[in-house]
Amino acid sequence: MALGLLLAVGCSSGEGAAEAAGGVPVVEKGRLTTCTHLPYPPFQFERDGAIVGFDVSLIDLVAKRLKVEQKIVDTPFENFKTGAFLNSGECDLAAAGMTITADRKKNVDFSVPYFDATQALLATRKSGVGSLADIRAGKRKLGAQAGTTGESYAKEQGFDPVAFESSDAVLSGLRTGQVDAVVIDYPVVRGWLKDKRNSAAFTVGQHIETGEQYGVSVKKGNEELLAAIDGAIKEARADGTYQKLYEEWIGPLPQSAP
Ligand code: GLN
Repeated sequence: MALGLLLAVGCSSGEGAAEAAGGVPVVEKGRLTTCTHLPYPPFQFERDGAIVGFDVSLIDLVAKRLKVEQKIVDTPFENFKTGAFLNSGECDLAAAGMTITADRKKNVDFSVPYFDATQALLATRKSGVGSLADIRAGKRKLGAQAGTTGESYAKEQGFDPVAFESSDAVLSGLRTGQVDAVVIDYPVVRGWLKDKRNSAAFTVGQHIETGEQYGVSVKKGNEELLAAIDGAIKEARADGTYQKLYEEWIGPLPQSAP
């Protein structure tokens, strides 16, 4: 009897079986399940035992529209390119400070852009590295986070960066002197440098204007959910919520912010 009941519960909350408000399909009843890769401050990170950040607040707005609660799942970063966790029904969407790229678009669908980003070269002060040219000239060690646009950029420039699994690992790679500099999203660097311990040890050598935009991804063809995400982003921009969240998590809103 107990097993039957479990199976029944399992079925009713199985992939495609549940719907949120407006008939939007969700992988788990009453939830909007977000896949992310932790930590990625200020977009998603743990604070006092809760996962918070700009992306978390933005997706909460989508969840509110759908009259469900957001649930966050930590997954490996390479999933974001393949969309495997979306196709398998593990998550409804991915929000991970993730740049919209042509390559990723082959496997997942993206929302409207919700954030403008660039890359930065963050170097240890003691290395004296001020640019990528310095790395090349001085045979210094460069690092990046595996699978990210920062890593792709470094490779396109002819470097072979040490790959770190997460932003935390990038930071400790710099701290321990495993690498002298890293290419990583500027908003993350900006957040790190607010901490005196970091700004005493590291400095931005170079700003790299890649003109990236972050988007939320869904399983290919999930138009209902995509419409809900786009709607929530557009509404947040129009009613001032976007600016409020930006100021809360990032800083003053630039005039040109999308
Ligand atoms: N914006 C970068 C990318 O999409 C980094 C994202 C991340 O590390 N969470 O590759």
